[in-house]
Amino acid sequence: MIDLIIIGGGPAGMAAAIYAARQKSDFLLIAKDFGGQMAAKEVEIENYPGLGKISARDLIAKFRAHLEQLDVAVEIAEVSRVDKIKEGFKVAAGKKTLESRALIIATGSAPRLLDIPGEKEFIGRGVGYCATCDGPLFSRREVAVVGGGNSAFEAALFLAKFVKKVYILERGPRAIADVANQELARKTGKVEIILNARILRVEGVNFVKNIVYQDAAGAEISLPVEGVFVKAGNRPASSFAEGLAEINDRGEIKFDCATHETKTPGLFAAGDVSEVKFKQIVVAAGEGAKAAMAAGEYLRKINP
Ligand SMILES: Cc1cc2nc3c(=O)[nH]c(=O)nc-3n(C[C@H](O)[C@H](O)[C@H](O)COP(=O)(O)OP(=O)(O)OC[C@H]3O[C@@H](n4cnc5c(N)ncnc54)[C@H](O)[C@@H]3O)c2cc1C
Repeated sequence: MIDLIIIGGGPAGMAAAIYAARQKSDFLLIAKDFGGQMAAKEVEIENYPGLGKISARDLIAKFRAHLEQLDVAVEIAEVSRVDKIKEGFKVAAGKKTLESRALIIATGSAPRLLDIPGEKEFIGRGVGYCATCDGPLFSRREVAVVGGGNSAFEAALFLAKFVKKVYILERGPRAIADVANQELARKTGKVEIILNARILRVEGVNFVKNIVYQDAAGAEISLPVEGVFVKAGNRPASSFAEGLAEINDRGEIKFDCATHETKTPGLFAAGDVSEVKFKQIVVAAGEGAKAAMAAGEYLRKINP
């Protein structure tokens, strides 16, 4: 049994690992990938203190280099189950079962699906969740972005570099993205914002041909587009904490904000998977650092 397992390769998990390494903990970082949501960042990151503007790829590389510098032990695997055992936790990761005295869950969140007809059918054939990955395929075509938050506007800004036209479809009466992002989108001359649009379905034959929505007056509108990028919020990856931690109605893990500990002693949460209000890279990194320090305190308490 080791002291600590950290699950998650986003900024929260990587920062937790950096802090755990500096505390000389006997620990392991388990992650499906490195970077987490940062990897889906459409434009440069401009708000990580001290770095000015930096691409997501470069920021992820900097985090990884820091892990390597500290010789952090990493297991690339998906955690499917966590159980409480007498001395700590049993973690099923890929084909392995690992045990630790303390555990930090920093598994972040994943894009929320629209759950409408045609969405799953056309994934990879017009429907996508990552404009950076798939945007260039839609060069000189018309596409829709569903959602009105910052990630929707950033996707639209990225897409506007390639496509003929981007429709932003927001179900509410106003977009909630930062005013700066809304201004930038308007300035492209290619982005049209459609408010009060309730998305009904995606249609096509082999590939997407239309997105159909209901407008404020209840009329059904069919918009001819060849791409649909869904940016409708996130689902926290908290399912395996059920029973061990309290989960709020948004699916986020609840914790004591002073110690990051959940209702189960030795179980900590950090970053976007938790109920921390602000979901940002620097916040996730800070929360990961706090969770690692709190886990260190816990370990010293149970094993002075
Ligand atoms: C499009 C977009 C743009 C953004 N732009 C900015 C920005 O400009 N500035 C900013 O500050 N923030 C931005 N954010 C928010 C920021 O990316 C997140 O707040 C931050 O990445 C959260 O970090 P995290 O470590 O908590 O979770 P995540 O980044 O979600 O990382 C979670 C990690 O856990 C891993 N994981 C999940 N489940 C398992 C499992 N079962 N087993 C193993 N590993 C697992 C994932 O693979 C991933 O490595 C943006 C987010 C998006 C989506």
